[in-house]
Amino acid sequence: MQALQNKICSEGKVLSAEVLKVDSFLNHQMDPALMQDIGREFAKRFVDEGITKIVTIESSGIAPAIMTGLELGVSVVFARKRKSLTLQNNLYISQVHSFTKQETNDISISKEYLQATDRVLIIDDFLANGQAALGLLDVVKQSGATAVGIGILIEKSFQSGRTLLEQTGVRIESLARVASLEDGTVTFLETVTA
Ligand code: 5GP
Repeated sequence: MQALQNKICSEGKVLSAEVLKVDSFLNHQMDPALMQDIGREFAKRFVDEGITKIVTIESSGIAPAIMTGLELGVSVVFARKRKSLTLQNNLYISQVHSFTKQETNDISISKEYLQATDRVLIIDDFLANGQAALGLLDVVKQSGATAVGIGILIEKSFQSGRTLLEQTGVRIESLARVASLEDGTVTFLETVTA
């Protein structure tokens, strides 16, 4: 997606050969117009999949997920990373190791919001080693629902996540695929036209 690639080039900061900072439009301050375009792009790519629910993880997945849900006309449910006072029981729970925080946490979704009949699109901001997406896939599987797709904004293709997710057989759509962050420069895997 050209608009996302342009934004990464103009505002992204390469913190190391492994970490890209995009706090100005995604992870702290957010760009609503870009999020809307992203929602439209995911909706276009997944419109024929009969999606009934979008699942993401707090917090940075929520903005693109809600825009996609708006376009597809379906509800969005986000997995919580922390225990909530109002959300204690009746949960699907999975363990996720965080790439950026280097810690393992439970993620949870209330059983109330995922049904076995749901066809789920999973959305997340980054794909690194695939642990967040695998945790979300696990939660969806526990509910008996069908994961029909994974939508990622920024895939770091030089890390292991893409390969791991491909092994699950679930369709993956990444809007920007980063081949390398070497020498402080973002290099994309492919030039896109969308
Ligand atoms: P994974 O579970 O695929 O290893 O990592 C995905 C999660 O880690 C994303 O939800 C995102 O929050 C965070 N993450 C991974 N790599 C990066 C990165 O380079 N930059 C930022 N801002 N977040 C990242």
